[in-house]
Amino acid sequence: MYEVSNRKCFGGPYKVPITQFNRQTWWPPKWIECDCGEHAEHIFYRKKGNPYPTKRWHCDTCHREYQIIEYTTNFILLENDSVKQANKN
Ligand SMILES: [Zn+2]
Repeated sequence: MYEVSNRKCFGGPYKVPITQFNRQTWWPPKWIECDCGEHAEHIFYRKKGNPYPTKRWHCDTCHREYQIIEYTTNFILLENDSVKQANKN
């Protein structure tokens, strides 16, 4: 199995592990592995009733947030200040 990202990524409600072989189906990941051992979920926002993906993932357990690095499949952990900043946008 080849890693596609600097974090383990999972697709869909059943958290299918994403590899280079199935990433076309599952990318972007619904879940990424969080530093706390749980899974951070892809954040969507709603506009006129429709969900739109954001570039961020949030962990309900520890409230860490991650952001995908533009043009890559890697993620960075957002510091508290940058979370506040991103939430303004
Ligand atoms: Zn967490």
